[in-house]
Order: sequence, then structure tokens, then C-alpha cells
Amino acid sequence: MLDTLRQRGYQIGATFGQLENLKRPFVLLDDSSVVAINKGRKDFLQKSLLKTIHDLEPNKAGFFIMAEGAQIDYGGHANDMRYVVEEMLDFDRTIGDAIRFADSNGETLVIITADHETGGLSLLDGDLKRGYVDGNFSTNDHSGIMVAVFAYGPHSLDFRGVYENTEIQHKIMAILQKYHSSGN
Ligand SMILES: [Zn+2]
Repeated sequence: MLDTLRQRGYQIGATFGQLENLKRPFVLLDDSSVVAINKGRKDFLQKSLLKTIHDLEPNKAGFFIMAEGAQIDYGGHANDMRYVVEEMLDFDRTIGDAIRFADSNGETLVIITADHETGGLSLLDGDLKRGYVDGNFSTNDHSGIMVAVFAYGPHSLDFRGVYENTEIQHKIMAILQKYHSSGN
């Protein structure tokens, strides 16, 4: 796969820092370098989203980006409230960037969801001023709790209601098909 990517003009990197230095970067990180925010990951998720938008934006046919705040799940498995909150805030800042980009052009659909909940977390109390959140975990595994789907931009209303999350893919494909068949 790496050879194919190289042939297509991607430069392969293996560290966070290479994201900014490579042209058309494809950064593959091993497990030991994918650390939590509180272990020094910093704003890699935000930076990688912004870099990807920057590189794909000139594509006239449009583009699709999937960005994952993957370690919210790790915090849930560890039943570690601080871990969950720090990773959630990192993801939230990344969502902010995605929505700012959507606002800048008016033709970008942003869909925010989760593939599942982890930890069976119930939020019991909190205080915005003190940055305090209290919660209770009921499992150290994935749960069947319903997850929210937030959508912003054109066709966002297509994502209302209650449905299996595998439907999201079909909804996206249906929207794309509409545009291709109408020649827009
Ligand atoms: Zn998990």
C-alpha cells in the first residue's frame, strides 16, 4: 500500500511533526506514538484536519474527510473522567474548525456522531465556571446507548430522526448521487 501511495505522489511520514513538513503527507503513526492529550499529543487532530482541508479544497469534484476523536473511547474503557473530558474538548475544537470551514463556503456538510458510546457514562453534575464534571460509569466496555447525530450545512435535515448508524453511509451516498445525476 505504501508503494502505491508513493507512486501517487504521497510522501509517507511516521511522526506528528512530519504532517507540516511533507507535501501531500500520509502520516502513519504506530501505537506507541498515538498518545493521549495529557501525554503530549497536543493539537494533532486539529492540525491534521486543517492540513487535509487545505490539501483537498482545490479538488473541483469535492472531497470527503473522516476525522475521528478516537481516544474518547479509550477514556471510557478506562472509566477515567478526566481522560474523556480532555479528549472530548480536543474533538470539540476540531469540530469548531470544521464548522468554521463550512461557514466560509456555504456548501460543506458537516456530520458529527459516534460509532458507539463507551463506559455507560451518566453525567451527574457539572460547573462550567470551575471546569468541573461529575459522572458515573456503568461498564468498561462499549454500550448500546443511543448516540447523537449533529449535522450542519446543506442537507443537514436529512439526518433527523432515529435510525441505525449504518444508515449514515447510505444517506451520504444518496446526497452525493443527487448531485452527480443533476450535473451540479
Ligand atoms: Zn473501544
